[in-house]
Amino acid sequence: MEKLNYQLHDVVQMKKGHPCGANAWEIIRLGADIRLKCTNCERSILLARSEFDKKLKKILISNSNN
Ligand SMILES: [Zn+2]
Repeated sequence: MEKLNYQLHDVVQMKKGHPCGANAWEIIRLGADIRLKCTNCERSILLARSEFDKKLKKILISNSNN
């Protein structure tokens, strides 16, 4: 499976959405841990990068210029 190339401030869809009903998360911190902010209710969650990689479904908005 192709590895998704994400970066800070990308908006991503996870395998499981937020309990508020939305499934669009902005990456607001990218390190060993990744912090995601729900674009609907603005709550944030922290995930280990390995866990994030497992739960990531697709990138909705990429900030990549290439
Ligand atoms: Zn939410």
